[in-house]
Amino acid sequence: MRKNIVAGNWKMNKTLQEGLALATELNAALANVTPNCDVVIGTPFIHLASITAAIDTNKIGVAAENCADKKSGAYTGEVSAEMVASTGAKYVILGHSERRAYYGETSAILKDKVALALENGLTPIFCIGEVLEEREAGKHFDVVKTQIEEALFNLSAEDFGKIILAYEPVWAIGTGKTATPEQAQEMHAFIRKTIADKYGKEVADNTSILYGGSCNAGNAKELFSNPDVDGGLIGGASLKADSFMTIINAF
Ligand code: PEP
Repeated sequence: MRKNIVAGNWKMNKTLQEGLALATELNAALANVTPNCDVVIGTPFIHLASITAAIDTNKIGVAAENCADKKSGAYTGEVSAEMVASTGAKYVILGHSERRAYYGETSAILKDKVALALENGLTPIFCIGEVLEEREAGKHFDVVKTQIEEALFNLSAEDFGKIILAYEPVWAIGTGKTATPEQAQEMHAFIRKTIADKYGKEVADNTSILYGGSCNAGNAKELFSNPDVDGGLIGGASLKADSFMTIINAF
């Protein structure tokens, strides 16, 4: 059966020293407890190797926030999936709306990134979600379905089974405006049905679908209590150990 997962997305926050301090604080907080969910932290590339060396990666998985759409070579400034894997990171966040909006990441690019992540043994945390105008126009289901179809439905059922999805309505990211539990459940159930229609009920039932968008210590429990919400991708509230721990303990 699918896992519950709480994953942090630090974005472009924290120096290496600050990141190490937060990761070791979380590591200490989790040392003598077994949470009812998997815990992942998504950190800037340059933090990955230091953080995986400083924590118990069986307790806290480490994610990159991106990887290149090319294998290797003359792509100055890029970081490949193979390089990410070589740091000890096990996950990679792909398709975040900030990457789609600010760095022009299209479904075609994301399809290549997903393939390279899987080839290198990384678990993609694949983000999907509509902008406000799309929701107001009643297009949110179509938008999300298209994002999944275009970047992921070329995968075999076996490979699709390795993907974690994160539904992140763009209007809720960093805005303090969270989707209601009903809105989250409605979309998550739709996503699961979309997967079932393509790969069958077993694959759909085994896929973890996280909610992201102003999820915090105060609303996580209510969001996670929905049957199709299998955890959260957490931005702002993952930057402090106490709020992130409260979200982990919401399970
Ligand atoms: C995110 O960027 O993935 C996110 C969910 O951010 P926030 O929790 O800050 O809205």
